Amino acid sequence: MKLAEIAVPATRVRGVGPATAKPLATLGILTVGDILAWWPRDWEDRTVRLPLSAFESRSKISVVATVTGADWFGYGRMRTLKLFIRDDEGTVAELACFNRPFLERQFPEGSRVSVYGSFRRAYGAIQSSAFEIELADDSAGKVLPVYPLCAGISQAQMRKIVSNAIDEYCRGIDSELPEPVRLANGIPEKGDIVKMMHRPESLADARAAREALVFEELFLFEYAIGARSLARRGRLPAPEDAGSRRDSAGAAHQLSPLQRRLIERLPFKLTEDQLATLSDINGDISGPYPMARLLQGDVGSGKTLVAFLAALAVVERGGQVAMLAPTELLARQHAENAARMLEPIGVNLAFLTGNVKAAGRARLLSELASGGIDVVIGTHALFSSGVSYRNLALAVIDEQHRFGVLQRSALQEKGVGGESRERPPHLLMMSATPIPRTLALSVFGDLDVSVIRTMPPGRKPVKTHLSRAGNEAKVYDFVRRELDAGHQAYFVYPVIGEDEAGYDSEARPGESSLKSATEMAERLTASVFPGHRCELIHSRVDEGEQRRIMEDFRAGTIRVLVATSVVEVGVDVPNATCMVIEHAERFGLSALHQLRGRVGRGEAQSYCFLVYSGNLTDEGKARLRVMHETTDGFALAEEDLRIRGPGEITGIRQSGYASFVLADPIRDRETLERARVAAFSLLETREPREHGGSP
Ligand code: ADP
Ligand code: MG
Repeated sequence: MKLAEIAVPATRVRGVGPATAKPLATLGILTVGDILAWWPRDWEDRTVRLPLSAFESRSKISVVATVTGADWFGYGRMRTLKLFIRDDEGTVAELACFNRPFLERQFPEGSRVSVYGSFRRAYGAIQSSAFEIELADDSAGKVLPVYPLCAGISQAQMRKIVSNAIDEYCRGIDSELPEPVRLANGIPEKGDIVKMMHRPESLADARAAREALVFEELFLFEYAIGARSLARRGRLPAPEDAGSRRDSAGAAHQLSPLQRRLIERLPFKLTEDQLATLSDINGDISGPYPMARLLQGDVGSGKTLVAFLAALAVVERGGQVAMLAPTELLARQHAENAARMLEPIGVNLAFLTGNVKAAGRARLLSELASGGIDVVIGTHALFSSGVSYRNLALAVIDEQHRFGVLQRSALQEKGVGGESRERPPHLLMMSATPIPRTLALSVFGDLDVSVIRTMPPGRKPVKTHLSRAGNEAKVYDFVRRELDAGHQAYFVYPVIGEDEAGYDSEARPGESSLKSATEMAERLTASVFPGHRCELIHSRVDEGEQRRIMEDFRAGTIRVLVATSVVEVGVDVPNATCMVIEHAERFGLSALHQLRGRVGRGEAQSYCFLVYSGNLTDEGKARLRVMHETTDGFALAEEDLRIRGPGEITGIRQSGYASFVLADPIRDRETLERARVAAFSLLETREPREHGGSP
């Protein structure tokens, strides 16, 4: 039996009564299987005993000492016990026993005790109020699990419950892995792994168990990816999938008539990479398998146009296209571009968001269902339950890392079962968050990947300046000159209003608190740029108002747009030449890169000012330095991987592409690699009909 299949109710475990069953249920723990798989988030190593004098060397220490006396302080109900202890070096400490008056009798003077806790120096004494205490003989010095908890259940209770569950039920649990794979990779039996996680002999044991679970998880993930690839295109993922075929020369010949017409009408030529990507896509669309392609291209590299061209190939074959954007703002911008580019060549367009109401909506839905609409652009409303398509043949997902897997497959399923279709629609996912190449194969292994690296010609790289808070007057003066010359500017802040800015827990006394977008919009309007129209936009501004503001900014009547990171994705206003980001240290590298990508979209030289404040951490410094030195998104992603290391790359963590319990594809990238090799070689040796979702 597998761990997850142990369906015995949790209440059968000793120590789980009605009072604890409730908080357990809150945590989602209903069965014995759930208890056993309630993995510790960390471990406390009490095997290392330290003298009290070392209390500052770690946040918590484990000491053996003798109780030398007790005292009471405070009055009435606040009366609190204080125990005095002395260790073998003669160092003395005080234990403040809040709500634990019973400790006085439990540990009388002379008791040998083992204490684990965090100590600090106060009023000249070494003190602790957060500690655990037991008789020294009872504690041989253990490694104890630390569990995620919720109200109503303590760490000690959880330890007891899990331990009881192990004693009673931890026999004969099957590994998730096929036996040969388990043995070949040195993975212990599942029951042993469970014990090592919850009751390790040493930290090394605990870590080995964790590593084994990570391997299990990643193996299953890679197996699923491999199986999906086999199902879709009859073969396993290969390294060549993670790069375009780069056939820009051949591409021109295989353009469809509508694609040709759109390209002829453009005021510019497609870049080589756009052409090569289009060739990849055309190949997929006319090929035998449904497309599942990830288009990676830096901000401003022209992905939207490629998506429109892909849409045309599908429309010409009588199919419908749904194009999904993460925000209403972006969906509307795509719809406007489509109206300019696609409508004149005869494509029927529609725009659908949650805001399209009543009569208009009903008509639109019926036209989608009857096939009167060729291309529909919108937000997640596109895959809500009332929406059906006659023949959805292509789903385009812009800024794909903003969507979860479930949302994506919901959209794809709209295509299955539609009239005359027996296969899922083609899928084109676009992302400006580059995934380091080394990871692409494992993480997006069941997809084909095209990359647009080159920017449209004539773009000048954005000049980036760093500026310490306090010197921003110079930045404002510079921006004023750009505004006077007819250009536009963005100002971005980390928070919307003062309500949030006030709760700046990191602000130290004397350090100025956060500037908010709301407050700064007023200040910039009133005293910094009085001659230029400034407006404020953020997620709490109502959507109609957002639209009006974006239209006015695009038209140039609004000169300065003060915003939060809502402007991060996709907004395209070529006349804007300045991006000022204040409290830049608050933004992640990829957010900064996305924000900077809002400028440098026209002919004129553009500038990005990163105004930082406070004392930068080393990581913060490194991040700003990288922003200063490179404008290449792929190089930036590699740097991000280097600086932040484990688990912080937005593209994967937030991709929702896979949700792991313990594994982290970046931190565990070596395990990921091993798991992929193991999973793919297993798939290779199996008969085709055996390719199910699980090994
Ligand atoms: P992103 O890849 O970030 O989504 P967009 O699709 O918004 O970028 O394109 C950015 C801008 O570049 C748009 O204004 C678009 O019209 C323009 N553009 C796209 N392709 C080209 C090209 N080959 N030459 C010149 N400009 C282009
Ligand atoms: Mg875009």
